[in-house]
Parts: sequence; C-alpha cells; structure tokens
Amino acid sequence: MIVVMKIGTPEAEVSRICEEFNTWKLTPEKIVGKHKVVVGLVGDTADLDPLQIQEISPWIEQVLRVEQPYKRASREFHHGEASEVVVPTPNGKIAIGEHHPVALVAGPCSVENEEMIIETARRVKAAGAHFLRGGAYKPRTSPYAFQGHGESALGLLAAARSASGLGIITEVMDTADLDKVSEVADVVQVGARNMQNFSLLKKVGAQDKPVLLKRGMCATIEEWLMAAEYILAAGNPNVILCERGIRTFDRQYARNTLDLSVVPVLRTLTHLPIMIDPSHGTGRAEYVPAMSLAAIAAGADALMIEVHPNPAKALSDGPQSLTPERFDSLVQEMAVIGKAVSRWPQPAVVLA
Ligand code: PEP
Ligand code: MN
Repeated sequence: MIVVMKIGTPEAEVSRICEEFNTWKLTPEKIVGKHKVVVGLVGDTADLDPLQIQEISPWIEQVLRVEQPYKRASREFHHGEASEVVVPTPNGKIAIGEHHPVALVAGPCSVENEEMIIETARRVKAAGAHFLRGGAYKPRTSPYAFQGHGESALGLLAAARSASGLGIITEVMDTADLDKVSEVADVVQVGARNMQNFSLLKKVGAQDKPVLLKRGMCATIEEWLMAAEYILAAGNPNVILCERGIRTFDRQYARNTLDLSVVPVLRTLTHLPIMIDPSHGTGRAEYVPAMSLAAIAAGADALMIEVHPNPAKALSDGPQSLTPERFDSLVQEMAVIGKAVSRWPQPAVVLA
C-alpha cells in the first residue's frame, strides 16, 4: 500500500501517521521524492480499506494498492521515479541510475595474481572504467575447476583499489565470508547461482555495502525482483540488478541469451538501477562489443565487462574476456552511443 501525501505536508504530520501505522502492526517507510512524500506500507495490508487509511489525515492525497508481490522494489514505492545507488570510491562518489551517465565495471573473471589484477586495474581505469571487478570466490560448475584464491585474492583487490582508485566489485558465495568480502568490496556481488539463496540475501541485506544482484540463469523477472525484495526488506536500500544472460536452448553459438528486453521492462516495474553483463551474456569476446553498445542504446545504467591482460591464459572465462586494448577501443565506441542517448559525461568546456 502506498500513501501519497499532499505537497507541503508538515513533517510532524508524516511522523504522526507513521506512528499510527505502527500501532496497526504495519511497517511504514517514508520515501521523500522530488515533489512529494509517500509512505510505503509493508505488512498484512490485504484486508485494509484505502478509505479507512484516507481518514487518518486530511494531508493524505491518495492511497494506492501495490498489486505486485514485490513492494519495496516496485516503481510505485519510489514515487514512480528511478532511484540511484551512490557508491563512494577512492576516486569519488559514483552514482548509478537512470539519471546518471553509464557506469563501467571491468576486470577479470578471477583475481589470479597481484601483477595481473593491478595491471588490469590500471588499464581499465585509463580506458574509463569506474569499478574493477574480479572474483576471489568463484562459483564453478566443476569442483575440479579453479575455485578462486579466496581470502588472499581479497588482499590483492584491496591493493588494486589503492593502486588505481577504482571501486571494487567482487562476489560473495557464502555467508561465512561476507564480513571479509564487504571489508574490501565497494559493491558486493551476489552471483546468478545464488540469486535465490535466501539466507545469503538476508545477510547482504543486513550489511551496509551496496549489492549487485545478478539474475539467476533461469529466473523470471518476478523471481529476480522478489530476490531484490529480500535485500531491501532486510534494510539495505542499495540494490543494483544485473542481467547476465538466461539459459539458452542453442548453446552452439552463445553461452546464454542476453535478455536486453529487461531494460525497458524493468524500467516500468522497478526503480532499481540496471546493469548489463554482455560477457557472461554471450560467452564470446567477439560478441561483447555489439551487445555492450546495444545495452547502452536500450538504456542500461551500467555495464560489466570481463577484461584480462592475456585472455588465452585466463584461469576462468578467457573466451569471453576482452584484452585491455579492445576494452579501450570499445569505450570509445560506447561513448558515441552514450552521447546519443545523453548518458555519457560531457567533456568539460575548456575556455581559451
Ligand atoms: C561472474 O561475474 O564472474 C560470475 C560468475 O557471474 P554469474 O554469476 O553471472 O555467472
Ligand atoms: Mn566470469
């Protein structure tokens, strides 16, 4: 249920009605928009009559029922407006969302050693990336495949952060590792395979770092938004959704089907920022540039691209990784599309 307050409602009145809702055993959440304040009501609202709510204050403009099973993730819950996730990094705050330039995340699938992670960090930073990605804990289909260096790789990510100033995005697979991961990560990633690991979702929702929630490989959009709802309901408002391709019936050419239609679909359903990962989405480096450009044209808020200094020797996901040179030229191609859709930072005007 959404309670829309009239423009100019005194703060004390909003607090009073929130207290009233508490006595009804509901959880009110005040959301301040550009023009109005709305109070989102979560709890057992099925039997509530909107007219009964309307009566508790003359300052209530409208009471709306949220029909979707996800509430906090719904667009209505945020005044119908997009929200932003602002991430403090050593290079300053990076805002991710519909009203900001496209944010770029780049780096290897896994952190392999100090030299490669620092070199990759410096090179993707020079090309224009805002975040370095790299897995310390890797979810691998085979138990015999490289599993990531774990805790020692977290130390290497911290070193790469200091060396480059980039924010760090890395995956947590196990609740037992969350404290260590969130100490180093500026954004904690929940991978596709853990999208419905509800105990992990509750834990990442109860810590402060923003969360990148990848779409499960067979997840519907509603299941994905319900997973986001777990994180939001646990108290963490900073969730970014990441489309990384869904299971395809034709694996001969592409690893997954990158579902770019989620961009306009999610825009209507949720206020949360949207990231696209064309690397896992296609599984092939040669397809990554086209899908990166398409993602920007479709309106994505951020891109995650795997980059490795020597893809042929990568310990994981080499075939889908770009070289730093290719990433650099891709950023220039992305700038053309980004500017066309007004999602690219304009160069500062230099006065003669
Ligand atoms: C990754 O980002 O390296 C990864 C394992 O992604 P996903 O969970 O989308 O497969
Ligand atoms: Mn990978």
